[in-house]
Amino acid sequence: MNCRGRCCTFEANSVQITPLETLEIYRSLEESNRWNEELKKRLEQTIKDYRLDYDIPTTRGLSLRKTYTCPFFNHGPKGCSLDREIKPYGCLGFNPLKEGNLNGENCGQNNALLEKREQKHNLLETELNQQIANALGLEWKKLPIPMALLDFDRKYRES
Ligand code: SF4
Repeated sequence: MNCRGRCCTFEANSVQITPLETLEIYRSLEESNRWNEELKKRLEQTIKDYRLDYDIPTTRGLSLRKTYTCPFFNHGPKGCSLDREIKPYGCLGFNPLKEGNLNGENCGQNNALLEKREQKHNLLETELNQQIANALGLEWKKLPIPMALLDFDRKYRES
């Protein structure tokens, strides 16, 4: 209850989600009437504020992974406004590892747990991600939450 949610802010958060995770969040938001213009504006503003759509290549040929304050974060204890059932796996496995997490410096990923989960569901999830990507014409495997949701919405409406 004392968690200040630093792991969800630009100080530490760089979570990216798959098409399958995006579908689950999108559907839940639609079903609860939370997918609306106000939310879309917030997602767009997050992309703009943190320049998430501006690609910065690294020397290793990858794109720089940027941090951002999650648009679903309500500042304060228990700050995530998504239901636990649809929360991205990267979020569930990324938490403060020590007390006194004032600037997000103690947020860390439970890699062993995430890998164990991924191995268990890898075949099915790879297949489902591919099917969703093919059906909607998605050209990405993972994106930051606001980019993934807006692109999913765009392609879903076009399809
Ligand atoms: S989805 Fe929830 S847990 Fe994940 S970064 Fe956003 S606010 Fe935090």
